[in-house]
Amino acid sequence: MNLRTNPPPIPFIDVAAQRRRLGPAIDAAVARVLNHCQFILGPEVRAFETELAAFCGARHVVTCASGTDALVLALRAMGIGPGDAVLCPSFTFCATAEVAALVGATPVFLDVDATTFNIDATHIEGAVAAAKEAGLRPKAIIPVDLFGLPADHSAIAAAAEPEGLLVLDDAAQGFGATYNNRRLGTFGQATATSFFPAKPLGCYGDGGAVMTDDDGLSETLRSLRVHGQGSDKYDNVSIGLASRLDTIQAAVLSEKLKIFPDEIDSRNKVARRYNEALTDVATVPAVPAGSTSVWAQYTIRISAARRAAVAAALKSEGIPTAIYYPIPLHRQQAYKHYPVGKSGVAASDRLASEVISLPMHAYLDAATQDRIIDATRRALKK
Ligand SMILES: *Cc1c(COP(=O)(O)O)cnc(C)c1O
Repeated sequence: MNLRTNPPPIPFIDVAAQRRRLGPAIDAAVARVLNHCQFILGPEVRAFETELAAFCGARHVVTCASGTDALVLALRAMGIGPGDAVLCPSFTFCATAEVAALVGATPVFLDVDATTFNIDATHIEGAVAAAKEAGLRPKAIIPVDLFGLPADHSAIAAAAEPEGLLVLDDAAQGFGATYNNRRLGTFGQATATSFFPAKPLGCYGDGGAVMTDDDGLSETLRSLRVHGQGSDKYDNVSIGLASRLDTIQAAVLSEKLKIFPDEIDSRNKVARRYNEALTDVATVPAVPAGSTSVWAQYTIRISAARRAAVAAALKSEGIPTAIYYPIPLHRQQAYKHYPVGKSGVAASDRLASEVISLPMHAYLDAATQDRIIDATRRALKK
């Protein structure tokens, strides 16, 4: 009889540990909203928008109901619609491309850099050419700051500008990270983020925000999130959405924002430790000079042929892993009929077969990290 008992399973993301740390402050913040009853666009929403603007350096923050809505609102505010092409990476979460289709435009996929997982700006020209060949007007590009690492925003701006492309940064995973010493939120015409609970800055439900330095764009966003309202609720100047961040979620987020910088530090410590311990057995994630990551995911690359066995070995020791993302968007049933850039999407295909993500959050203690590291090394050396 085997008397060895496995230690308890490790959570992939430990939302409960953060809840314990925040303790009564969250309860008090929620109770304030329950008492004043202004559940839609209550005072906590504007307060949080002001705090978030100060945090990231953007002139305006307009919160809304989800990260997906943030992207939709931004595209709508930019006037993107039918006949327009919106360039986006194939290796990303589906929402990045979904929003282009939702506003009636056409997503055009371009490839990423295999070492950063983010858009390779040298592919922009070929994607613009593919869009034109398909009879579309190339209007915008949505770079994604995948797994928490900023995209190469200077290179993207330099390639997008001559093509006349507006830039909408999808910072759902990267919000809080820096590029050339500036936090995400100020690159391109607008930045969208998500407060889905598992994101680095998450709330206790759905939520999102758009950041912009453009006064006009911010006014349009504020109107669009309330059914395209004009001077008041019953003056409708455009077709909009019902997309607000709940007052309760804004109150929760204000408390979470206070500890966010400290959590980012903790995530970076975990990532540094993983990188040092795994660099000889896997391709560990690289952070280019001039950038910092918020480590929405800690993702390594291993041999495609061994990935399933490695995941199974870790699972048997109570260590969860995840594959972000197993199928690139240009191969998904819902997206495979959309154009692909001239230079192809080979890196996206390759990454989809090689990536595997390990547990990552701000509350991983050293002993748990060691357990994950030891098991991963053992599984990869088999
Ligand atoms: C999570 C995510 C979104 C969508 O955010 P939701 O709040 O879930 O709607 C968009 N883009 C990327 C890259 C994401 O990771």
